[in-house]
Amino acid sequence: MDCSLCGKTGLPLHIEGLRNSDGRVFYCADCDLGLLQTQKFDPKAYYDGEYRQKFSEILEAPNGEPDFMYNYHKDFQADRLRIVGEFFNPAASFLEIGCSAGQFLAQLKPHFGRVAGVELDSGCADYVRTQFDIAVYDQELADCGFGPGEFHYAAAFQVLEHTYDPVAFLRDMAGVLQLDGRVFIEVPNLRDPLLSLWRVPAYHRFYYHEAHTHYFSARSLEKVATAAGYRIEALHYLQDYNFMNHLYWHFNNGPQRTGEFGLAPPRIQFNDDHPEAGEALNALFQDCDKRYKAILAEHGLTSNMFAVLARE
Ligand SMILES: [Zn+2]
Repeated sequence: MDCSLCGKTGLPLHIEGLRNSDGRVFYCADCDLGLLQTQKFDPKAYYDGEYRQKFSEILEAPNGEPDFMYNYHKDFQADRLRIVGEFFNPAASFLEIGCSAGQFLAQLKPHFGRVAGVELDSGCADYVRTQFDIAVYDQELADCGFGPGEFHYAAAFQVLEHTYDPVAFLRDMAGVLQLDGRVFIEVPNLRDPLLSLWRVPAYHRFYYHEAHTHYFSARSLEKVATAAGYRIEALHYLQDYNFMNHLYWHFNNGPQRTGEFGLAPPRIQFNDDHPEAGEALNALFQDCDKRYKAILAEHGLTSNMFAVLARE
């Protein structure tokens, strides 16, 4: 296996066996990049077909229905909205690639003059068009017919790690962007705390995923961005799941049944006998969670990285 970024040959095997499937991930130490052994695939066929059926946050009830996806994710967009909020401009245009059921884009719409989406899952694309009156293209970016400089801003959240060629993907984004525009990229972090900090054997297989062709660290993300003609203007370390979800993994060596508890501020349903004590404890847990996430971010050990890219 060779590194698709630097060309280094004979990469060592990093991990064998993925979440829900077989597969092998190799590791380039020069790039600090994990690479799935994979073959060139047709993204439109894959993401408009088996993907949503196969993977879901609800482990025991896969559900790719757009309405479900939208409602499940819409309350967990605060970090993204906070960072992009610096660039809100009613005179500017914004394109999100991989907009899913519109959970981010629908909330962004009031803050820009024009928003548009690209989403290969045609069910999701239809849903965003009809529910939110947003133009959504269900083709790969290069096939959407956008002109050079058509957008001020472009985003791709949890998308780059799915692409066969991340450098080419970022170059395609640059092709529709104004020269002084910005690209917002969010990817999973190879230094995910359950991999790099906690001792959770089962997570090592859970983290690696047949749809994720690349596993980025801050260093490899920067190398990819540089190769595509960008510089990283800001890098934010974001933690999605809360500390109780991590404790659950620690004690059970396996995931919670759904992500809803773990993605929200931690809150225990105590019995009703002592409501004030229960409230005080939940306030403590939520305070603890903020501090937990701040410590992870300080050390670059969060689940996700969010990069603001400017063109060189
Ligand atoms: Zn490499």
